[in-house]
Amino acid sequence: MKYIFVTGGVVSSLGKGLTAGALGALLEVRGLTVRIQKFDPYLNVDPGTMNPYQHGEVYVLDDGAETDLDLGHYERFTSGLLGRANSLTSGQVYEAVIAKERRGDYLGATVQVIPHVTDEIKGRILKGAEGVDVLITEIGGTTGDIEGLPFLEALRQFQLDHGRENTLFIHCTLIPYLRAAGELKTKPSQQSVAKLREIGIQPDILVCRTEHPITTSMRNKLSLYCNVPVNAVVECRDVESSVYELPLALAGENLDELVVKRLNLAVNARDLTVWQDVTRRLRFPLNRVRIGVVGKYMNLQDAYKSVYESLIHGGIANDCGVQIVRLDSEDLERQGTAPLEGLDGILVPGGFGDRGIEGKIMAVRHARENRIPFYGLCLGMQVAVIEFARSVCGLEDANSTEFAPNTKNPVIDIMETQKGVTGKGGTMRLGAYECRLQPGTHAFAAYGSDTVFERHRHRFEFNGAYREQFAKAGLRIGGVNPATGLVEIVEIADHPWFVGVQYHPEFKSKPTRPHPLFSAFIKAAVKNKKSSPTPPTA
Ligand code: GLN
Repeated sequence: MKYIFVTGGVVSSLGKGLTAGALGALLEVRGLTVRIQKFDPYLNVDPGTMNPYQHGEVYVLDDGAETDLDLGHYERFTSGLLGRANSLTSGQVYEAVIAKERRGDYLGATVQVIPHVTDEIKGRILKGAEGVDVLITEIGGTTGDIEGLPFLEALRQFQLDHGRENTLFIHCTLIPYLRAAGELKTKPSQQSVAKLREIGIQPDILVCRTEHPITTSMRNKLSLYCNVPVNAVVECRDVESSVYELPLALAGENLDELVVKRLNLAVNARDLTVWQDVTRRLRFPLNRVRIGVVGKYMNLQDAYKSVYESLIHGGIANDCGVQIVRLDSEDLERQGTAPLEGLDGILVPGGFGDRGIEGKIMAVRHARENRIPFYGLCLGMQVAVIEFARSVCGLEDANSTEFAPNTKNPVIDIMETQKGVTGKGGTMRLGAYECRLQPGTHAFAAYGSDTVFERHRHRFEFNGAYREQFAKAGLRIGGVNPATGLVEIVEIADHPWFVGVQYHPEFKSKPTRPHPLFSAFIKAAVKNKKSSPTPPTA
């Protein structure tokens, strides 16, 4: 069993998660089984209760765990499925330690950070590694953070327990460029490595984020001051077209080879065909489409991370470049639907709360009336149902009880199992549930199967009382949960491609295995574009 730890220095948002993911991809290509997990030093038990401004997207796993969006990178870059055990926060660590203390597990002892908290953390490293050749654990935050110290201390002990030959430390750092001086600077990296060494951790590999090439003399300097062999100073320049070029870029710097040698791993020859193909399709696509995403956190890079990535994957499947046009639903409320003109497809993602809902409904109506491919995810499906009820069925006050608790036409209503739930953490309908597909629907055609499992995160659902009325008006049910009858998919029969899903397909798409519905949506967008004049570019 081999253990790789990824830490970060100088600043956050360095792309540690992407580095971990890309390294995982490179090791899988060499025939190893890999799992990647994340330790986050904050005190929330999970990010499920944080808003997108704090945390970006909440990524949901099959087992219903609400996790950091880096787990999305891990699942997209590697083939393994992750679970609750692969995401640990300080909140969970302290929750577990205090529960043990109350139970009397430590009877007689003073409970302390060392060894009790660090033992809990080390236990999670061992658990994460079960059944794989290599476990990569990324530590959130930046070296020097107070909250991160127990985690780093646990890693130091772990290396002592399991031997240097089985453990490897990668430190991701920033090499800032000072324009006035015309120079790249190594000092912040020297200092963040010094911080690690103070705790007793010597990084084996430095991954250096930089906007400019790192010269040989700088590599020598980093090597000398950070006590890392010069060939283990890895340059990681901003990639050109997409993050999926990262495996090739890091292979170019021999990151995989360094890891394999240092950990003495028996591997196959390197065959990067899969990632070369992905990169080619992204750089030189045959088609191009413009897809509007209508949400309410549009100026945040990370709020709809998996949705954006899955659209790109749908593009890969169709040899099609996807230009994503981010549209704020509240802008539509103010300005009308002019910003939707010329789009080849419209997607409304998930969300909570009533801000911007009417703008999303306007986007649905535009797509329905103009026969533009429409794809609604979770809340996006719910607003599609509301729009259909209002415009087609004539139920003018139709709404979701999430936004209008007293509406006379609650076409979207709270799930029976959610009534009376007051706690907010981890209480939604979460994780993978079965969906049986209806033959003859877009969904059935896309999946090519009659049973699928998709991930959920919601409290409200399609109100079955309206099923017949909707069916008569042309809204068909594409899939239901066989155990509960809950409606999972709605489609408009008389429309080129109009699909709303109660689940989050964006959590199950990879560049190497694009999700069938995202592929079908982009395919419909390409078709829609062919039949309409070329839209003006933004
Ligand atoms: N707010 C809606 C619900 O709870 C949709 C949730 C979502 O889009 N994830 O059902």
